[in-house]
Amino acid sequence: MEQIAKKSGGLRGTLESGKEYYEIRLESIGGLGANLCGKMLGELGVKYLDVNSSSFSSYGSEKTGTPVKGFIRYCQKEKEIRVHYPVVEPDLLVVFHQALLKDDGVWKGCSQDTSVIITLEPRQDQPKELRERLFDGQIGTCYGLEAQKIAMESHSRINVVMLGAVLKVMGIESLEAGEQICRDTLGKKYPDALKANLEGMRRGYEEVRLLSGKEAPGDKAGAKAGVDAKDIAEDKLAAKTADKVWGYDNAPIGGINPRFGSTVISDLSPSRQGYIPLFIKERCINCGLCHSTCPDMVFQFAKGEYKGREMMVNQGLDYYHCKGCLRCVDVCPVNALVRGVESEHPRKEYFIPNQELLRMPKYYEEAGSDGYITSESYLTEKRMEGGEV
Ligand code: SF4
Ligand code: SF4
Repeated sequence: MEQIAKKSGGLRGTLESGKEYYEIRLESIGGLGANLCGKMLGELGVKYLDVNSSSFSSYGSEKTGTPVKGFIRYCQKEKEIRVHYPVVEPDLLVVFHQALLKDDGVWKGCSQDTSVIITLEPRQDQPKELRERLFDGQIGTCYGLEAQKIAMESHSRINVVMLGAVLKVMGIESLEAGEQICRDTLGKKYPDALKANLEGMRRGYEEVRLLSGKEAPGDKAGAKAGVDAKDIAEDKLAAKTADKVWGYDNAPIGGINPRFGSTVISDLSPSRQGYIPLFIKERCINCGLCHSTCPDMVFQFAKGEYKGREMMVNQGLDYYHCKGCLRCVDVCPVNALVRGVESEHPRKEYFIPNQELLRMPKYYEEAGSDGYITSESYLTEKRMEGGEV
């Protein structure tokens, strides 16, 4: 705790140093709750931290899976906040999903003075994209935590876990203020989930850890993990070349926004929060309800035969577009779709890529889509029910 507060400078340290504002930028994807997290952080300042504060979010269509940014500013309580533009040079950058790390826009305005909090996969140390930034000296100090795992285990959501981590990195000495703001906000809206959310926040506060300091930028860490300077230099050269094509001022008219969830070829898997629908083909009656309910083009129907009749038959799911909302599980009348924990199902044997997109296979390779459908879940259910397998 002391180590973290000391390294980041924190909220009080920054304001006492004479800097006008302590600014936070949240980088997230619709569905992870960053908007609410930003609101709670903003309210927290005025109500419980004895500072003045403001917050707002920026998002597009509000569709799950599309980019969301949150901006929070703190200053001394006597000062009036008269700036209302996005946080350009954050003191603290908070990245809610690892898929965002490869997006250059996420890192804009960061410097050696910026602290960063990222989410980690279980047992992960430093993701490659982070090592590159550290190697380059583009960010100062980095912290990480297994936010999704904590959220699932505590039955809370990623936003409260990240809220706990932010409070710690800001150098807030106790969780009391955080708990209070949770009660004020979530206690009213979701009273049944308050206990779980408080637990998620507590674990975020306690489990966020230092991944690197300013004094250890990348080279040692990179070498240890098998990333050498040549690889990084090549990646940087490739990024520069791409910049020449895709800069905002020289993009061709009619250009597209290639970020998550923005186009039909966008990978929506980063929106999933640990759960996916599993398809039990043996139970499916091909009613098509899942297909008409799914907000994205996940289900793949093709001409086939069912009970001796020619009809459109459910071939399986294209998990590339599945954002994990689980509406299909709710609607299936015969439990042919069931909720599964994503990390427990690494097999892809029934994965059916969307036929219309097959002429662009590069997108699948780059995204590393982790879709699959398994009949194993069916067998497991049968075993649990004591039936024959
Ligand atoms: S709703 Fe269920 S039964 Fe109907 S097509 Fe979809 S998976 Fe099959
Ligand atoms: S969980 Fe089901 S309804 Fe939601 S996006 Fe995935 S396949 Fe479609």
